[in-house]
Amino acid sequence: MISPIATLIVGAGPFGLGLASYLQRRRHDYRLVGKPLEFWERHMPRGMLLRSSANWYLDPDHEWTIERFFAQHHPDRAPAEPISREQYLAYMSWFMQQSEIGAQPHYVRHLTRNGTAFTAELENGETIRARNVVLATGFRDFACYPAGLVARLPEGRYQHTCDAVNLDLYRGKRVLLIGGRQSAFETAALLCEAEAAHVHLSYRHDTPRFVEADWSWVETIVEQMASHPAWFRELTPEQQEAYRHKLWAEGRLKLEPWLESRICRDEVTLHPRTEVASVTRKPDDSLLVTLTDEETFVVDDIILATGYQVDIKRLPFLSEALQEAVAVRNGFPLLDVHFQSTVPGLYFSSFPAGQSFGPFFGFTVAVRTAAKLIGEAVC
Ligand SMILES: Cc1cc2nc3c(=O)[nH]c(=O)nc-3n(C[C@H](O)[C@H](O)[C@H](O)COP(=O)(O)OP(=O)(O)OC[C@H]3O[C@@H](n4cnc5c(N)ncnc54)[C@H](O)[C@@H]3O)c2cc1C
Repeated sequence: MISPIATLIVGAGPFGLGLASYLQRRRHDYRLVGKPLEFWERHMPRGMLLRSSANWYLDPDHEWTIERFFAQHHPDRAPAEPISREQYLAYMSWFMQQSEIGAQPHYVRHLTRNGTAFTAELENGETIRARNVVLATGFRDFACYPAGLVARLPEGRYQHTCDAVNLDLYRGKRVLLIGGRQSAFETAALLCEAEAAHVHLSYRHDTPRFVEADWSWVETIVEQMASHPAWFRELTPEQQEAYRHKLWAEGRLKLEPWLESRICRDEVTLHPRTEVASVTRKPDDSLLVTLTDEETFVVDDIILATGYQVDIKRLPFLSEALQEAVAVRNGFPLLDVHFQSTVPGLYFSSFPAGQSFGPFFGFTVAVRTAAKLIGEAVC
């Protein structure tokens, strides 16, 4: 049997790349599998703008920063300009080249543990054995389809925002977007720019305000956690809840001001404090929507901007034995201060680390801290 490598990183998004860079510099025996930048490339729409700034770069050793990338490739760019998805993708590709990171662009289909090593079967038939496995598979598996809502929608007539990314397909169409946070409003703006005929947004709450989000306090916390990783778990439950609420309010009660003029147009109708009561197919295959305030209108398509919810039972590649062995609370794995789960050698990074490290860990602000803490444990 082939002898195991030291560390297998599963996932080649920002978190996998940040850790790979840390391990590469220290000449650690690792491999990285996953489709590089896949979520940003295939599950976010063209033209999307980031809410985060150049401070959220990937290199835990601070060499290959976003600012340095812009200085080399976009020297005329104004620092206050939001970063586009396309610029961020170009930065991540550049980062991979500069850090000399190579990824095997395949999914892990099955992950098991035998004795002290893990065995990962890849979709191309290859098998990799490793003493440590770091899961950084990100958001895609956790797309949220609220059961009560979906039960009211005709089968096959709705998509989650992570799949509704080619907005040119909606040219001339009437669309209902369900959800009322940044992603819903930005999708509405991009739909209008792709010449959708009309966009309705239905959401249960008031319309958020167009105010620039302030993430500076998050940056300070996450940076400090690199030397004090137990900080979040040492807070009282009430303090933890207060931080969750603060982050939630920053992200969810505000819409970026650069969206306002793109949304305030005749082709967009906002339906705050509503839910979908029913949707019925009409003979011409369009959809008659009735909201809980009794308003009705006709659309051609429905997009769910209903976010993401961690539930590691939804990771399709973890063996049953591993699923049972990983202790979980609220769908999140319980992790030690190095991101290790209750299965020795199995680490979870990114979004699933949010229960143990704080909700900030779903955002790229935490890439460098996670890379450093996991890297120290496996090196
Ligand atoms: C609409 C939207 C806007 C966002 N805007 C921002 C923003 O402005 N700033 C910000 O910091 N964050 C933003 N985020 C959050 C951001 O997407 C995440 O922080 C980041 O992508 C998480 O990185 P990741 O490395 O965990 O995984 P992802 O980027 O989700 O990448 C997952 C990786 O895992 C791989 N993978 C998946 N399954 C397998 C498998 N079975 N085997 C092998 N590989 C696998 C994929 O191929 C991919 O390489 C946004 C998210 C959304 C949904």
